[in-house]
Amino acid sequence: MKIATLSIGDELMYGEVVDTNTACIAERLYRVGLTVQRHLTVGDGEPDIVEALEFLSDKSDAVIVTGGLGPTIDDITSRAAAKATGRRLVLNDEALAHLKGVNEKLGGNLHPLNEKQALMPTKSTLIPNPVGTACGFHLIHQGRYLFFLPGVPGEMVRMLDETVVPFLLERNRYRKVVRTRVLKVFGPSEAEVDFLLKELAAVNVGITVAFNVIFPEIHVKLRAEGESEVAVDDLLERAMAEARAKLNGVVFAEDGATMDSVVAGLFREKGITLSLAESCTGGLVAKRITDQPGSSAYFLEGVVTYTNAAKTRYLGVPPQLLAEKGAVSGEVAMAMAKGMRRVSGSDVALAVTGIAGPDGGTPEKPIGTVYIALANRAGCHAKRYAFYGDREEIRTITALTAMDWLRRQLLSP
Ligand code: ATP
Repeated sequence: MKIATLSIGDELMYGEVVDTNTACIAERLYRVGLTVQRHLTVGDGEPDIVEALEFLSDKSDAVIVTGGLGPTIDDITSRAAAKATGRRLVLNDEALAHLKGVNEKLGGNLHPLNEKQALMPTKSTLIPNPVGTACGFHLIHQGRYLFFLPGVPGEMVRMLDETVVPFLLERNRYRKVVRTRVLKVFGPSEAEVDFLLKELAAVNVGITVAFNVIFPEIHVKLRAEGESEVAVDDLLERAMAEARAKLNGVVFAEDGATMDSVVAGLFREKGITLSLAESCTGGLVAKRITDQPGSSAYFLEGVVTYTNAAKTRYLGVPPQLLAEKGAVSGEVAMAMAKGMRRVSGSDVALAVTGIAGPDGGTPEKPIGTVYIALANRAGCHAKRYAFYGDREEIRTITALTAMDWLRRQLLSP
């Protein structure tokens, strides 16, 4: 089934409002195996709306229109719909009763301007609006299904879910079952992930692989399509197992899980306690840890030691070491982690020190140089990283890398 969306509104054309309705419709249809073929956006001009409706209904089996059903002068979608389909505008009794009902509930009388919202092209079927005043309508024009929904996102989505999607699914002759799973990857580049998975879709017919970069994570989306739920679930499970094996160790979470929720789950499961000593991340790692409910069970404490003096005072980092090696060094990172573990008594202590920029870089230690260290019962080790990006990006990737260290540490035997 060829489906198109049409968003109407001057505010969309001026860039004042982001068109979330289109993304929402596309995403909800995609989830149930229907794909949108075209998106179009026009302003509140009647000729533009009429032309868009004529074009889309000529090219598509179904058109989902949002916006311009309100009471104001610029809400002219119904009139344009009537014009585009060669119909008259008539008062819809059901819509009028709905409008009166909503107004009574609000304790007022229906304003004559509002009555305009009950005008619909002849032979339209009302689409109920359970959460607002503007009813939608649906009509069949030259064998094409046209749906008209209000622009208010919360109203639009209810009407889409309750009326439009079931209607389309019932009539979709080529009904497919679609399932999607996500593997979240951190470490390799997008090109490397692509290379590792390049055969996956070719070998598993019915599977498509898509990448979504949400810096600094890469989300690999596996989509399976087929005739029956059992077959699709089976296909997807096999492809997921194959992808996990190929991505060996760099997948940190799947589907709705996040790095932070995975790390939280592992801390709870292992009964290990944590403390943090941060410098360039300024508490970002502690924030990620404490964003998770129940983190007090394993997170003991954290300090942000920005100056050398603070590193010495709170963590016992020797001033001589700081002078000799510099605050951004593996030795200092390890001294921070060991000091933090000693002070807090935690099982694991992680420390971060680095140069986030925009100032402070040197030829030996350019902006983006970061050391992470981890101390536990077995000892302490540190690693140097060379991150690239602006201050915000360097701090974000450092915090995620630190979380990944904790994840790997908790997974190690
Ligand atoms: P109303 O009964 O509220 O007048 P309507 O169908 O006339 O509904 P519009 O007037 O076009 O809808 O828009 C109502 C609200 O919804 C506005 O705040 C508008 O910015 C927002 N809106 C409209 N279209 C979209 C869209 N495509 N994406 C996100 N928001 C939208």
